[in-house]
Amino acid sequence: MKRDTVLGHAGRENTGRRPVNPPLYRASTILFDSVADYRDAHRTRLGPDQLYYATFGTQTTFAFTSAMAALEGGYGAIAVNSGLAAIIVTLQTFLHAGDHVLVPDSVYGPVRIACDGALRDQGIETTYYDPLIGEEIGSLVRENTKLIYLESPGSITFEVQDVPAIVAVAKSRGIPTAIDNTWATGYFFDALALGVDVSIVAATKYVAGHSDLVLGAIVSSEKYFARLREAVASLGYSASPDDCWLALRGLRTLGVRLRAHEGRALRVAQYIAGRSEIDEVLYPALPGSVGHDLWKRDFAGACGLFSFVFSSDIADSRAIAFIERLELFGIGASWGGFESLVLLLRLGSRPGMSRTLTNWESRGPLVRLHIGLEDPDDLIADLDAAFAEI
Ligand SMILES: *Cc1c(COP(=O)(O)O)cnc(C)c1O
Repeated sequence: MKRDTVLGHAGRENTGRRPVNPPLYRASTILFDSVADYRDAHRTRLGPDQLYYATFGTQTTFAFTSAMAALEGGYGAIAVNSGLAAIIVTLQTFLHAGDHVLVPDSVYGPVRIACDGALRDQGIETTYYDPLIGEEIGSLVRENTKLIYLESPGSITFEVQDVPAIVAVAKSRGIPTAIDNTWATGYFFDALALGVDVSIVAATKYVAGHSDLVLGAIVSSEKYFARLREAVASLGYSASPDDCWLALRGLRTLGVRLRAHEGRALRVAQYIAGRSEIDEVLYPALPGSVGHDLWKRDFAGACGLFSFVFSSDIADSRAIAFIERLELFGIGASWGGFESLVLLLRLGSRPGMSRTLTNWESRGPLVRLHIGLEDPDDLIADLDAAFAEI
């Protein structure tokens, strides 16, 4: 089935008298009819969608995870309490004291904080690599490299990685790979089909789509599923069935929303690219932008999140004036909801926002936009007024 059909039908009961949507089951204890059945549930608890104890999930959780597994083309999915938790527990599944991990320099900031902090303290060493490294990543692999982590496009600067080239190197060395697939989701980027072992999606963003919850999903091939499931359970991560229920409702419209975000974002990006105040638009879907060719080769579409860099003669104070003049763009973190957002980001001056392999200090202020579902004419008029202000 095509992706849109999957989104409409996955995670639902298909026979019997039933409501369209699965009911919301909240629980702690799950009850069993016999000791034998309880023991059976314990034995099978590391499989996908197994009712055992509610930290593993309820039927509502499993409606969501089975739909996420279908979207990403995986064997199963695990829901955890945030996108960041989904990433960290994945790293903790594959990495132990004395191990080494390769992480792109454009990684989501809080992951860098964890790698340079908690994971380092646990004896796990991180090497940051140029996200555009491609097959050259082989030169960074060590004997103790236990995971190659990817995020494409990268956070804030949107570098598109050559995922097939990196996966080929990882496979030849027998190293598992995991990717942060939040920007595209399985709807636009088929990470597991390209050979990545684990696809992580912050459902907080487009899957939920309404800026009203925080949730993460880990989707994997069969090979690593039980290991991930065990790590999630043993470290005490779980997800609220309420959040899973809402995220599943969001998932039903993910396709139409993503297409709408993409069309609007492209129009706005084209407008910004024509402004004299800016140096560069960082949006792989924009023809002529860095990474456009790889994006075109590997992605089926783009979401509404991109950045632009002011020319270097624009001071931070003018960028701040620009942002504060905007009326339709809220100032705030996260993205993927129906509403437009703006953030001023200076790479290098804040922990976790840094790049260690490239120098962003010498460039103009960087502004990240999330293009929501408003009419793009209104968004462009708002941006036009803000450019005029500075
Ligand atoms: C927001 C985000 C996350 C983390 O998601 P939370 O649910 O907010 O923890 C992970 N990766 C990327 C690329 C993100 O933008």
